[in-house]
Amino acid sequence: MPSEKRDAPQKILILGGTAEALALAEQLVADGHQVTTSLAGRTVDPVMPVGAVRIGGFGGAEGLASYLREEGFDRMIDATHPFARRISENAIKASAMSGIPLEQRLRPRWQKQPSDRWKAVRTLTAAADALPVGATVFLALGRQYLDAFAGRNDCRFVIRMVDPPETPLVFANHMLVLGKPASDPEREADLLTAHGITHLVCRNSGGPAGYAKIIAARRLALPVIIIERD
Ligand code: NAP
Repeated sequence: MPSEKRDAPQKILILGGTAEALALAEQLVADGHQVTTSLAGRTVDPVMPVGAVRIGGFGGAEGLASYLREEGFDRMIDATHPFARRISENAIKASAMSGIPLEQRLRPRWQKQPSDRWKAVRTLTAAADALPVGATVFLALGRQYLDAFAGRNDCRFVIRMVDPPETPLVFANHMLVLGKPASDPEREADLLTAHGITHLVCRNSGGPAGYAKIIAARRLALPVIIIERD
């Protein structure tokens, strides 16, 4: 990553919640900047970035613009997850309202490799519809993306979540795997094999953190229903 060194130290707000945002905060602090990372507060026990941290929504674009002005930030960097669209839209509006410059650091999507068996879809509903009757499905999706699959009583779901759900899931046939994805494709492949997975469903999030499951599916020649972002 190129150096972020500036002539004068700056006060920088990072919209975070990703591994890339953690690395960016570390680098900017090392370069002498005063850095605050903002987290939405979705994860119970998040990895804490270097520098200052604030947690929770701003109250829309206006709230974010006020926060930027009141705290005297020199610039803002959007390093949020590529599927976190609302905060990125708010960042654009808040930058326009406050006059505080915005940089976007959104990771590129994964590219299909020749031996990948991907079916690309645009929506969660389309992903649910793409599953064949009797499939054993690994859902690598956050809690807020699961409802579209609950009606598929003819499939068995293995659902990976970082934190346990606050309310019971309404799936007829499912089991939970709690924890973060492994970075080692072998471990991801072992998990998929141990559960007899026939289909993987995930979003095309890009970045290294979730890519091991894509490699694992490739090695096992498993079909992947992949939800593309717009
Ligand atoms: P979202 O739909 O774009 O945002 C919904 C609301 O949550 C925003 O309007 C904002 O509330 C608040 N928010 C989101 N990110 C925030 C941040 N970094 N700091 C302060 N407030 C934030 O976001 P999301 O998809 O729920 O994702 C939430 C966070 O989780 C993001 O920081 C993202 O980087 C991280 N994350 C998301 C995913 C994913 O799959 N979506 C995956 C991994 C990590 P106000 O309008 O009140 O300001």
